[in-house]
Amino acid sequence: MSKAQETVLEIDLKALKHNFEHLKSKLKNNTKFLAVVKAFGYGSDACEIAVYLQELSVDYFAVAYVNEGVVLRQAGITKPILVLHPQAVNFKTLIANCLEPSLYNAKIFNEFLSFASVEKQNDYPIHIKFNTGLNRLGFWENDVDYIISKLKNTTAVKVESIFSHLAASEDLNEKEFSLNQIANFKAIYTNFTKAIDCKPLLHMCNTSGILNYPEAHFDMVRSGIGLYGFGNSIKENRYLKPIGTLKTIISQIHLIEKDETVGYNRAFKSDGFLKTATLPIGHADGIGRQYGNGNGFVTINGQKAYIIGNVCMDMIMINITGIDCKEGDEVIIFDVNHTAETLAETSGTISYELITAISQRVKRVLLK
Ligand SMILES: *Cc1c(COP(=O)(O)O)cnc(C)c1O
Repeated sequence: MSKAQETVLEIDLKALKHNFEHLKSKLKNNTKFLAVVKAFGYGSDACEIAVYLQELSVDYFAVAYVNEGVVLRQAGITKPILVLHPQAVNFKTLIANCLEPSLYNAKIFNEFLSFASVEKQNDYPIHIKFNTGLNRLGFWENDVDYIISKLKNTTAVKVESIFSHLAASEDLNEKEFSLNQIANFKAIYTNFTKAIDCKPLLHMCNTSGILNYPEAHFDMVRSGIGLYGFGNSIKENRYLKPIGTLKTIISQIHLIEKDETVGYNRAFKSDGFLKTATLPIGHADGIGRQYGNGNGFVTINGQKAYIIGNVCMDMIMINITGIDCKEGDEVIIFDVNHTAETLAETSGTISYELITAISQRVKRVLLK
């Protein structure tokens, strides 16, 4: 790790390997591992992450949209790639790149079946998504007969997996609800496989599902946030390592007198003498306005410095009163000690939102 000279996001591949191995250690030997690398690999670098995980023999990848899958193919990813939320307008690109669609309602299911047969496909792998309570995407339990009737009339597609998603896998107060989702999903699978001669993979668990519901690992698990180092609980975080370190430097230091203000709209007003630093990172880099006005903090040599006033597009100002530092010194926005989860919590959000928001303007530096 070198000292920052500008704003950079360091990505630690050793930490990624550690997280992958830790999560795998929770699984039975024959349970497949799908790595979720949507949204630029949760704001890191989807291609570098996927290439490395492919070397580590991950079984499957998932992205949200077709264009994300295309980028992985161009980077040399040959493992199967599930597209969680495809749109019909991109089916041609999807097939040209051997990407596998999640089909979640009658409209997109029928559109894909027609498209695949016009394109003279045979046994094209598809994934059927069922809604068991999240009420986001998915067929209902009682759609099974309809799906089967359609599948019996085509050879263009083959059901590679059926899957569902837990609504509150991280929240043990919702255990009863989650167990009910799991039971419903099992019933759907039984009905499905009774009616048709194929054995699709069955999968339901995201990271927190892996950790909290071992009985629902089934044939495969889908992990995103855990690979990037967060387990959605204090206990699980101890076994995972955040892979990203976002750091920057001090551009300028100001000495501020009582009653002076700092930043746009004069949102911060000083009630005494203080020292501030201006940093080259703002809301266009992914540090949203909610972190301003004393909510979020960064660290300098382990010491807390709060973000004061309004977050600007390209800059933030922090209070460094009492901290021994100078212009050019390194500032940690988040790292393994002051984590993205901690910073997110200061401002009413979650690690997922903070890390995926780090914009493409921020240089990525890979630590191998
Ligand atoms: C994003 C996503 C995941 C990954 O969830 P994590 O909590 O990040 O592990 C898994 N499954 C689906 C359907 C998703 O959309």
